[in-house]
Amino acid sequence: MFDTLSQSLNKAWGMVQKDARLTPENMKAPLREIRRALLEADVPLMVVRPFIARVEGRALGAAVTKGVSPQQQLVKIVYDELVILMGGKQVSLNVPEGGEPQVILMAGLQGTGKTTTAAKLAAFLKNKGGRVMLVATDVYRPAAIEQLVVLGGQVGVPVFERGLNVPPADIAREGVALAKEEGMDTVIIDTAGRLQIDATLMQELQEISSAVRPTDTLLVVDAMTGQEAAGLVKTFNTTVPLTGAIVTKLDGDARGGAALAVKEVSGCPIKFVGMGEKTDALELFYPDRMASRILA
Ligand code: GDP
Repeated sequence: MFDTLSQSLNKAWGMVQKDARLTPENMKAPLREIRRALLEADVPLMVVRPFIARVEGRALGAAVTKGVSPQQQLVKIVYDELVILMGGKQVSLNVPEGGEPQVILMAGLQGTGKTTTAAKLAAFLKNKGGRVMLVATDVYRPAAIEQLVVLGGQVGVPVFERGLNVPPADIAREGVALAKEEGMDTVIIDTAGRLQIDATLMQELQEISSAVRPTDTLLVVDAMTGQEAAGLVKTFNTTVPLTGAIVTKLDGDARGGAALAVKEVSGCPIKFVGMGEKTDALELFYPDRMASRILA
């Protein structure tokens, strides 16, 4: 992850002259290299352009500090701006009010890792001591229900399902009611995906959402789709208000663009990242740690 980006940024630092301070002239080459590195990492131009402008503005306004080289100064500014770009702080899951269970609605296109991520999240919350239930509402693909049942079994979390003949919003409502009865802390609702956004998918999500009033609606996006991932979060967010995104497959040879661009493009924080196929490969998303990895 981020290997190419890190290497290209290292190249940019090497271009900083040993002058006393950063100037418009001696910043030209390194800034061009940083811009190239970000575009190559699949960060959309609409994100890269203002990012570079912010870095340049701060670098030119920065006071000369004794013992800090212009190169170190530029690295620090890029680090700070990367952290800001990714949202600044870690954003936790929302906490329900008044003893109600936490209801997490999982949305996303088919193949992004939604079902796997639902199970990973269940395992994550169970390991924190929560009582968790999974709900299967993909009534179009028996294999999807089966997959959730198997994954639920693997992580030791019960899976509520009603087969293929009950409307998804009803299944979700019943699942949440049962979870309340059984004193569960969290209900995670897996939904059907499509190969692309369509009206039926959006309507179904809206129906499930109004039926259960989720505390979180999380869109699962695949990092391998690069800059499209950020746009997708934005599009979904206009139909079903999202409280966060989960970027999956960051362990693969994804270039990192999705992780960098989601917040800026959609306004939606990334709450978790998927780092592998196993059910324990889910991490909280920390912008500062991610920026450190990039600059490693
Ligand atoms: P869904 O159609 O969105 O529910 O997708 P699935 O949960 O079935 O996942 C599709 C594929 O992506 C499966 O082979 C998963 O093992 C894989 N997958 C999911 N998350 C990750 C991840 O973070 N990293 C990697 N490498 N693979 C993942």
